[in-house]
Amino acid sequence: ALFEDIDKIDETLGSFLFVNKEDAMKEAARLDDLQAQDQMDGELFGIPMGIKDNIITKGVLTTCASRMLEDFHPIYDATVMEKLNAESPVLMGKNNMDEFAMGGSNENSYFKNVRNPWDTDAVPGGSSGGSAAAVAAGLVPFSLGSDTGGSVRQPASFCGVVGMKPTYGRVSRYGLVAFASSLDQIGPLTRNVRDNAKILNLISGTHNKDATSMPDVEEDFLKSIDADLTGKKIALPDEYVEEGIDEEVAEAVKNAVKVFEDLGATVERVSFSDIKYVVSAYYLIASSEASSNLARFDGIRFGHRAEGAETLEELYKKTRAEGFGEEVKRRILLGTFVLSAGHYDQYYIRAQKLRSVIEADMERILEDYDMIIGPTTTTPAYDLGEKIDDKLQMYKDDILTIPANLTGMPAISIPCGVSSKNRPIGMQITGRHFAEAEIYNAAYKFE
Ligand code: GLN
Repeated sequence: ALFEDIDKIDETLGSFLFVNKEDAMKEAARLDDLQAQDQMDGELFGIPMGIKDNIITKGVLTTCASRMLEDFHPIYDATVMEKLNAESPVLMGKNNMDEFAMGGSNENSYFKNVRNPWDTDAVPGGSSGGSAAAVAAGLVPFSLGSDTGGSVRQPASFCGVVGMKPTYGRVSRYGLVAFASSLDQIGPLTRNVRDNAKILNLISGTHNKDATSMPDVEEDFLKSIDADLTGKKIALPDEYVEEGIDEEVAEAVKNAVKVFEDLGATVERVSFSDIKYVVSAYYLIASSEASSNLARFDGIRFGHRAEGAETLEELYKKTRAEGFGEEVKRRILLGTFVLSAGHYDQYYIRAQKLRSVIEADMERILEDYDMIIGPTTTTPAYDLGEKIDDKLQMYKDDILTIPANLTGMPAISIPCGVSSKNRPIGMQITGRHFAEAEIYNAAYKFE
């Protein structure tokens, strides 16, 4: 039935780059047999799932929405795939995204755009736009995305679903095609908070092939999901609801504040003035790391290889010129410039210093408060094509999601209202490192 839905709906939505029908039907039949023998084993037994196309899946096409990896069939599974597969889900296909996870509207996919299921004139957000749209349209109950500067939370917000960016190190990045390694985290997109906590339970944990994954802390995010909020202290930064924030968005968050207060929490205004630095720091650091990570796509080892090159250097140049899209090239150029002798101190080092300043500012707030709330995005979803010529504005739009990546803190986006154009509005809850359980607890109050 879901494949029929995908056939019917996804023609318009474009949320899948690859539909895994043949293998999925085989796997479903195998699980049916097991069920008939009363051998249902696994927490996700028979549950369909989508996976963002930058998470590698053994033998299953993984393109990162790039021409560079148009025919790439990985020879191993990402850690998160191993963990999920152990629970017997059914992989429905790979979700569309911005090329190499660079973007916020899904308009940077080499293959096709994704449309927002709430309003097909609108973008679904990005870069995990296919994952968010597929979940919102009911094509899969969950998908995984990746979040480097907001790519799970922002599309979750635009599509009215729940998206979590876990603490840096909570989930292994092994097998996630790297964009900016010090910022990337994999996170679940689901229709409700409980499912989200459940999926994070299954994918978190240390892994010996990701040196930044944290030692296992046995934790069940569902255990305290129902707990009382009495006495919790929540911060609402002035900067999150004042200048530059759409009025309907600010209003929806202020209404959510009342809900928290009715539940016995105290919500106080604070100042997070260093937020003015986050966009510059992020785009310098993320682009620097990307320029280094993407150096591996050289036409030799894997991926696209240009025809007709006569020298090795020409092969590199032609391959990369043909294989990468415009936004990816822009980031590589920016990153290479920032890291080059003569500019390194002026840009890269200063961006790293700003990162520390921002972290100190957030930690100061979280010394006095349990959580920080605010909108996930400055506006609800906008129209397809509306911002395509204004890259700088699109970069600036990431201001509210970037802090969690620069600091490594966990943050969730949950639906908290709809705009007058009937487009979803998302609220973001950020917590201290490894405080996902507390975040889920607060978020669950809104179901
Ligand atoms: N929109 C941001 C960017 O383009 C975030 C992307 C992400 O989180 N992968 O870099």
